[in-house]
Amino acid sequence: MSVDYFQKKIDTINRLKKEKNAIILAHNYVLGEVQDVADFVGDSLELSIKAQNIDEDVIVFCGVQFMAETAKILSPEKTVLHPVKECGCPMADMADAPSLREFMKPYPEAVTVCYVNSTAELKTEVDICCTSANAAEIIALIPKEKDIIFLPDKNLGANVVKDTGREMILWDGFCPTHMRLRPDYIIRKKKEYPHAVVIAHPECRPEVVELADQSLSTGGMLRFARETDAKQIIVATELGIIHRLQKENPDKQFISISEQAVCMTMKMIELDHIIYALENNETEIILDEETIEKAKLPILRMIEMKDFNIW
Ligand code: SF4
Repeated sequence: MSVDYFQKKIDTINRLKKEKNAIILAHNYVLGEVQDVADFVGDSLELSIKAQNIDEDVIVFCGVQFMAETAKILSPEKTVLHPVKECGCPMADMADAPSLREFMKPYPEAVTVCYVNSTAELKTEVDICCTSANAAEIIALIPKEKDIIFLPDKNLGANVVKDTGREMILWDGFCPTHMRLRPDYIIRKKKEYPHAVVIAHPECRPEVVELADQSLSTGGMLRFARETDAKQIIVATELGIIHRLQKENPDKQFISISEQAVCMTMKMIELDHIIYALENNETEIILDEETIEKAKLPILRMIEMKDFNIW
């Protein structure tokens, strides 16, 4: 595509943003050109914190559905637009509130820790949320004698169990994108780049994380990339992060563990969708007041990271 082709679209987006008093938030996994046009790019935790402090009237959220819902929950007075309403997270769809109620029957006193990669409906039923960046710290807040149900990501859960030594009851969900990444992919890349360091996202299977030098959230990967002296870094997470890693660290080489590390739904949002969303106010995230109030609690407990004395 020519520079002009993109520039025209970017100019249109910037004009519409001004007219509508809008801000664009984007996740690290979306297409590079969408990251470039966003006002703020981050991981789930950074985006949740950012969504609390928005001055603009309209938030265009470029990420999957649950992320746009989280922005609405934290800024209910704002108009939150999700440019492609079909852009969902298959892992978030692996857990719902009625199934959790059923699952909890043998553990009625358990504390429920829910990865933010979950629907607003599920968040109304849980005690506290976490992200891949803060899961271990959240677990440390919970009294030792309490059972913990961790959902929906069994891989993140298993990696946290390994890091913290705290047993948890794990829901059987997973991220299909990270599940595809196998240990032999890392072994092969390490042979190809013997001097590279390996960083892996904790949504990867524990056998993959075990082979990495560091297990990091996407925000952690960006920090690590800035600070490390290593010149070659093998990255085991969704391909989209490579765009930002390379842009921020042009003197270093970032090698994706596999071309298969693609989250198809994250790649659905294109510049034209943002233009359409701003021109037509679509698709607006609508949540009822009760859902917003109930789902907000576990998210705020996570952000404020206090011992809430709720368990
Ligand atoms: S990368 Fe995995 S967890 Fe993230 S949105 Fe895609 S399917 Fe969901």
